[in-house]
Amino acid sequence: MTDKPGFIGLGIMGLGMARNLLKAGFEVRVWNRTASKMDILAVEGAATATGPADLAAQCDLIFVCVSDTPDVQAVLLGENGVIHGAKAGSLVVDHSTISPNATKTIAAALNERGVQMLDAPISGGSEGAANGTLSIMIGGEAAQVERAMPYLQTMGKTITHVGPQGAGQMVKLVNQILVVGNALAMSEALVFAQAGGLDLEKTFNAVAGGAAGSWMFSNRAPQILNRDWRPGFTIDLQQKDLRLVKETADSLAAPIFATNIVFDMYRTLQAQGLGAEGNHALIKALERLANVTVAG
Ligand code: NAP
Repeated sequence: MTDKPGFIGLGIMGLGMARNLLKAGFEVRVWNRTASKMDILAVEGAATATGPADLAAQCDLIFVCVSDTPDVQAVLLGENGVIHGAKAGSLVVDHSTISPNATKTIAAALNERGVQMLDAPISGGSEGAANGTLSIMIGGEAAQVERAMPYLQTMGKTITHVGPQGAGQMVKLVNQILVVGNALAMSEALVFAQAGGLDLEKTFNAVAGGAAGSWMFSNRAPQILNRDWRPGFTIDLQQKDLRLVKETADSLAAPIFATNIVFDMYRTLQAQGLGAEGNHALIKALERLANVTVAG
């Protein structure tokens, strides 16, 4: 029997992911807290639910992509949460980036009711969600990974079972250390190039394809040169991820020098009211210190 899929959380990432499930021919039921965000997928053929419990009652495979740890706790275990509607044998696949420790606690609560859970955080930005090319790093039981695989393959290209419950979230935090290191390097490099009076477009073309290249540089440097701060990933959510890295690194006594600096740079940008801008607006923190404006 084919599992009936449902999707909770139609934000920047969830909308594209749920749409790719629909496009692949699955009969998808969706729920989003702000109900109007369901309209676009309803027009494209998705069924809707009145809440997480209602969705869970009508689906076997429940994908979730919401913001932070308390939000996952609310939609899964809260008053009208998935746990109150899910049938025994259902599987929850959480794509949100949240605390690895809290993931284990949430999974245990679901397991007690006979509901399985995979932590399956994602990487690849809004572009990856829209194009079905995400990287998905999964923690949980191999049999459940196999069960979810045909659905995950509509959303991602690099799908890796990395270990037991919580391991997916740990690998995602590794991913975020790399992401912000790249963002910091990109910001320093562009401020340096501007200060040196270089042609920024030529500079970009010269280095993007070489050993200095990165997803961050290829996708976000052009946005910076256009002073386009629309978010693929907001500063507020990036800050949340770095908070998770810091908490986890502290518990492991693992040093994270650059990540700590970037955490505080983002904090200054949040204090200036820029939390809803894209994470590439990190460069504004350096621009202000250096009194340099990078413009292509
Ligand atoms: P987003 O655009 O801000 O969307 C957040 C979604 O979560 C919205 O659907 C929101 O509902 C829902 N939500 C938040 N709190 C909720 C609550 N308490 N109850 C019910 N629904 C709630 O964020 P996003 O960029 O899609 O990110 C979603 C997750 O993916 C985050 O964990 C993020 O770290 C991760 N992620 C994002 C990216 C990226 O590039 N954007 C990449 C990798 C991973 P409303 O519409 O009602 O606000």
